[in-house]
Amino acid sequence: MTGKPGKTPSDSKAADHHHLNGLSSGFGVYIHWPFCHKKCPYCDFNSHVRDEIDQSGFGQAIITELKTMADISGFHRRPLDSVFFGGGTPSLMEAEVVGHILKAIASLFSLSDDCEITLEANPTFLEAERLYAFHDQGINRLSLGIQSLKDDQLAFLGRQHSATEARTVLSKAQNIFPRVSADFIYALPDQELNEWQQQLSQILDLGCDHLSLYQLTLEQGTAFYSLAKRGRLTMLDDTMALDQFLLTQEMCQNRGLPAYEVSNHAKSGQESRHNLIYWRGGDWLGAGPGAIGRFWHQATGKRMETRARKDPDAWREDVNKQGHGLSHQHDEDAAEFASEAVMMGLRLREGIDLNLIETLAGPRSEWLNSDEVMHLCRHGLLALQEDCLTMTDDGKTVMNTVIGRILK
Ligand code: SF4
Repeated sequence: MTGKPGKTPSDSKAADHHHLNGLSSGFGVYIHWPFCHKKCPYCDFNSHVRDEIDQSGFGQAIITELKTMADISGFHRRPLDSVFFGGGTPSLMEAEVVGHILKAIASLFSLSDDCEITLEANPTFLEAERLYAFHDQGINRLSLGIQSLKDDQLAFLGRQHSATEARTVLSKAQNIFPRVSADFIYALPDQELNEWQQQLSQILDLGCDHLSLYQLTLEQGTAFYSLAKRGRLTMLDDTMALDQFLLTQEMCQNRGLPAYEVSNHAKSGQESRHNLIYWRGGDWLGAGPGAIGRFWHQATGKRMETRARKDPDAWREDVNKQGHGLSHQHDEDAAEFASEAVMMGLRLREGIDLNLIETLAGPRSEWLNSDEVMHLCRHGLLALQEDCLTMTDDGKTVMNTVIGRILK
C-alpha cells in the first residue's frame, strides 16, 4: 500500500524528493511511549519500567516536542499518510492521552480520514479493556505483539500474556479495528522446524491481514545476551534458522500473505504504510524519548536525522527547558543518504530505483560498487532490471553481507 504523495502546500525543492521508487514515499509521525510493565529478556528497545508514570505530563511533553519538530522541519499543514504510536508499550497509555496527542497532530499537520493511525499493543486482558477507547480516539490500526501461540514459549520470552489471552484479545481487536496486525517471534532456541510449521499454520488461520514474523536475535544489553555470554543460552543454529525463514516465506506466500519486506507479510493493499515510509526513504518526524526522525529539510533541501534522548526523565526536562529533547540533529551527506536508501530499500520486495537514488545522492560511482553488483547478480543474490535493483530470496539469507559488499 502506498500513501498519497504528501507534498506541502508551499512546495519546495525538498518536496520534489519524495519519490525513491517511483512510488510515493509519504509522510508520517512516530510517537515513542517508553514504558512497559516488565522488560522482556530479548528486547533492546528504549523501554523502561516505572511504578508510577505522569501520563498527562509525558503526553504534554510529546505535544511540545511535536510542535518543535513541525517548526524544525517546516512541515506545518502537510498531509499525513501515517501516525504510529510505538514503544515501549503504548497500549498502557491512557486513551485520553492518545486523544490529546492526535488532536495536536491534527492541528499541526493535515490529518485526513484515510490516514493510517497505528498503535502497538500487548494482548493482555488489562490492555484489551482500553481497545474501544483507543478506537474512539482515532486509532484505526492495531499492531498486537503476540509473539507465540504456545505458553511455554511465551514464558521463555518473558511475556505477560497467555496464548488463550492473546487469541481472545486478537479476536476482540479484529471486531473493533478495520486493520489488525500481529507480531510473532520464531527461531527460538531448540525450536523444531516441525513445531514452527504447525504453529505458523495456526497463525495463518487467525485471519490477520498483516503479520510481522521475526527471528529471535541476540541484542547487546539484553538479559538473553548476558545469558548467552555466560553459556546459559544457546541460540538456534544458523542453518536451522534459515530453514525456518524459507519455510515462513513459502507458507505465507501460499496463503496470500507474501513478504513485502524481509520480515513483514501482508495481503495486497494491507502493507503498513508507516513502515513503507521508512523503507522507501520518505519523511517522518519522531517525538518522545529515544524517537528518531528523518526527513528532507524544507529550508536546506538536505536530509536531516534527529534522535531524542533515551532517558525519559532527562528527555522531559529538556523538553520543558528548550521545547525538545533531541540529543542529535544531523544533515546527512550524499553518501549517508545513499547507504540508508540502499539498506532500507533492498529489504523491500519492490527493491530500489538506482536512477532515482542517483538524482538525490549524486553519481552512483561514488556510493555503489557496480562491479560487485554485477558479480552478485551473476551469483543469483541480486537482480537488476533496467535500473531497478532487488534482493533475491537467496540474497535475503545473507543480506547484510550483500549490502556491505555493494556499498562504497
Ligand atoms: S513489551 Fe515490547 S517494548 Fe516492552 S520490553 Fe517487551 S518487547 Fe520490549
